[in-house]
Amino acid sequence: MRRLLAAALCAALIGSLSACGQEDGASAEFYAMDTNMSVAVHDGDAQSAVSVVRDELYSLDLRLSRTRMDSAISRLNAGAGMPAEDTDISQLITAAIEYSNATGGAFDITVAPLVSAWGFTTDHYQIPKQTELDRLLPHVGSSHILFGQGGAITLDAGTKIDLGGIAKGYASDLCEQILSENGVMSAMVSLGGNIYVRGSKPDGTAWRVGVQDPKNSAGFAGVLSLTDAYAVTSGGYQRYFEENGKRYHHILDPATGYPAESGLTSVTVVAPANGDKYGNGPGHGTMCDAFSTALFVMGEEKAVALWRSGAYDFQLVLVTEDGRVLVTDGLADKFQQEDGSGYAYETISGNPA
Ligand code: AMP
Ligand code: MG
Repeated sequence: MRRLLAAALCAALIGSLSACGQEDGASAEFYAMDTNMSVAVHDGDAQSAVSVVRDELYSLDLRLSRTRMDSAISRLNAGAGMPAEDTDISQLITAAIEYSNATGGAFDITVAPLVSAWGFTTDHYQIPKQTELDRLLPHVGSSHILFGQGGAITLDAGTKIDLGGIAKGYASDLCEQILSENGVMSAMVSLGGNIYVRGSKPDGTAWRVGVQDPKNSAGFAGVLSLTDAYAVTSGGYQRYFEENGKRYHHILDPATGYPAESGLTSVTVVAPANGDKYGNGPGHGTMCDAFSTALFVMGEEKAVALWRSGAYDFQLVLVTEDGRVLVTDGLADKFQQEDGSGYAYETISGNPA
């Protein structure tokens, strides 16, 4: 049920997946990292590129999952540490800590025990007792992740990590690398709410990426026209349960242990796919994923302030609980409003008026 919900509610791609036959490329749809994924490649060595992407995503899932007992992350969480040879995971964790610092701790992979307490890892949802949250919260915080020689990692007792808020973004960075190595110039990849578009559509026009309407799973808040870009959406509507008429979603405020209530119903972060990397590994896909989760926690004011600071290269579409869609000016010519959606649209400028 949760999977169906996640599949149905993820940021939608308006494209031509089904039109992608053997003649104009290759495509695949599969399930990995707890979500539905699709890859459509239109040129280059398409068939080979699609199968390399799929194999790499399966293998990344095996390494990063915290519900698979034999994964590198499960071993780390069980207290076994992570050897220095796992440099790519170590770089990903390093990037996660940077994004945690950049967002005042709103993004924090050490929320793992809190995510478990709410039952989001098992589908056995429950509202944890305050005493349990009080017991877990002292173990949350990046300072509990310890780096040793050559990038080896250990965790303080009681601390565990959950890469669910960043792993699909990292996976999309890997896709960019693989498609580039296979000479592909036109492709789109959808990993749940994480979209990567490479080049333009085969007809030369931009890819159209729908920003789902958080209050209407069949509708859009708008549509983005993008080339060589990542677009990642986080929203409380993507995974949640209801109890006594109240909705509890999967994006937690690390400060309180409770689902974030910031006045935003979704955050879409868009950044150029230009090969920019964090070390040899994580790039803008990873950044978009971390920031979409974090900015959902931070709310409109702090999200816009981080964008205005210019410290990171990204643009935003924010959907608010009170019925507004805010689009930063770097997307103004790429964003199409949705007629009849009922939203009030605003452009956010870099320099406050
Ligand atoms: P996303 O769909 O990318 O917004 O990520 C949501 C997932 O990230 C959740 O299902 C949790 O596994 C994890 N998560 C929840 N809250 C946070 C947070 N504040 N920081 C980092 N990861 C989180
Ligand atoms: Mg995320």
